[in-house]
Amino acid sequence: MTTDGFHLVVAALQANGVDTIYGLVGIPITDLARTAQSSGIRYIGFRHESSAGNAAAAAGYLTQRPGVCLTTSGPGFLNGLPALANATTNCFPMIQISGSSGRAIVDLQRGDYQDLDQLNAARPFAKAAYRIGRVEDIGRGIARAVRTAISGRPGGVYLDIPGEVLSQTMETAAAAASVWQIVDPAPRQLPAPDAVERALHVLAQAQRPLIVLGKGAAYAQADNAIREFVETTGIPFLPMSMAKGLLPDSHPQSVAAARSLAISRADAVLLIGARLNWLLGHGESPQWAADAKFIQADIAASEFDSNQPIVAPLTGDIGSVMAALIQEVTEHPISVPAADWTSQLQERRSANNAKMRERLAENPHPMRFYNALGAIRAVLQQKPDVYVINEGANALDLARNIIDIELPRHRLDTGTWGVMGIGMGYAIAAAVETGRPVVAIEGDSAFGFSGMEIETICRYRLPVTVVILNNGGVYRGDEIPSGSVTSEKDPAPTVLNAGARHELLAQAFGGQGYHVTTPAELTAALSEALASNRPALIDCELDPSAGVESGHLANLNPAKTTTSS
Ligand code: ADP
Repeated sequence: MTTDGFHLVVAALQANGVDTIYGLVGIPITDLARTAQSSGIRYIGFRHESSAGNAAAAAGYLTQRPGVCLTTSGPGFLNGLPALANATTNCFPMIQISGSSGRAIVDLQRGDYQDLDQLNAARPFAKAAYRIGRVEDIGRGIARAVRTAISGRPGGVYLDIPGEVLSQTMETAAAAASVWQIVDPAPRQLPAPDAVERALHVLAQAQRPLIVLGKGAAYAQADNAIREFVETTGIPFLPMSMAKGLLPDSHPQSVAAARSLAISRADAVLLIGARLNWLLGHGESPQWAADAKFIQADIAASEFDSNQPIVAPLTGDIGSVMAALIQEVTEHPISVPAADWTSQLQERRSANNAKMRERLAENPHPMRFYNALGAIRAVLQQKPDVYVINEGANALDLARNIIDIELPRHRLDTGTWGVMGIGMGYAIAAAVETGRPVVAIEGDSAFGFSGMEIETICRYRLPVTVVILNNGGVYRGDEIPSGSVTSEKDPAPTVLNAGARHELLAQAFGGQGYHVTTPAELTAALSEALASNRPALIDCELDPSAGVESGHLANLNPAKTTTSS
């Protein structure tokens, strides 16, 4: 009896716990998807590989198992690549498995259907890239890909499987023996005791300590240990956007609403699974105090000193690091932060919250971002178990601050790159992996990057509600073009269609569509959509003048220095 490469790939994935594949079929992997589905793996078919890849990445983040994305050769592979690169940048474990054309023809550049040297093309964008060249290496190749994706710092792995390998056969007993389940896929890494003591010594000396929680901490699923350490020490904490909910945003020690004060005055900062990259101003003054001391807990030692001196590096997985810190602090308690530090932060938090409440209470017509997000906030406060996906410019910056998250890993967003296009892929993965309702809060421009996946959401009848904050443009929709002949007939570069009725897209594919123009209508539509547990899209008509260019990142947008006459 013999088996073939298709069945071996599926057997090897199943042996390593893969129960879902996100992909888009075509030559040479269509039968691989069929074989997976008939063997009990759930196959979710997308309309664009980039969304399939984003879904796999989000699945990896949510489950600590590599999400698997399946792509076809050549262009299909290339479409998946941005998601692989984004997953690697975000430290999410995923594997892009791609079919590829015949090696003999590709390598001599003789011209084959969709030929491309995919292995080398993928390398710079992945944590690792491997090719399986023989059917007997399929088990080994999958084991290697899974191990690499989730051990150490997680990331994206590319696995190339030429079509000819999939159809090669092997004797069944030998094939079964060639597949194995990897043992302890993400081994714990314990921090050295002296590193733990050093870190606590720095914190104990501090007058104004601060803990920054990043998405690496959320990924680690060490929620109880993190909470225990934060509450035992009494140190104020600041969640990065995807770490919101690791401890509830309503937690009394959260200083999310006093962010700039916290980072400008902290004198010792414990970074837990958060990089000191652009999202944290590279730890530079004047955003941070010039004499701030940084302590960093991270699984990747090469991360330390990437931007600022790390006076106390803690190498290890977050669970082990937190356990060691808790043990040490239980044996040798450190003094609680000075009351003037915590009370300053509390005052700023209360003042900023009051300002926020005032803005949310305004009711201009047409609606603006605050009013729409205020309505969404009120609905979601009643349903903290809803997963929130968020992308856009203003839609991202404002929702991040306005929508509180109370449960860990319940907010997925544009991440380390601030990339657009993750929305529908992440929403689909959140619904598929958790079975819980999902609300995707989208700018109208951001939605466009993955909008066709509304069909995927409808086809699989997923409990996803897409809310489009539609101000008719990139950043905003009211720019008047000027200065040339083309500008008389064409819209300005930032302008989209303010009158677009996105809800018709959902209706086209059997979902529920809503068009709303007031917070009350939005509240009613969102409540109904969530209660139905079915696909829905709410087009939320905003004032085209609402929003600012580049959102909160105006400082990153180079300004024109010359004007032509
Ligand atoms: P944020 O954008 O939320 O600040 P980053 O993506 O910059 O977070 O940082 C995440 C960090 O977490 C990365 O440096 C990564 O190496 C680290 N990390 C990821 N998983 C773990 C883990 N299980 N244990 C420890 N560190 C981790």
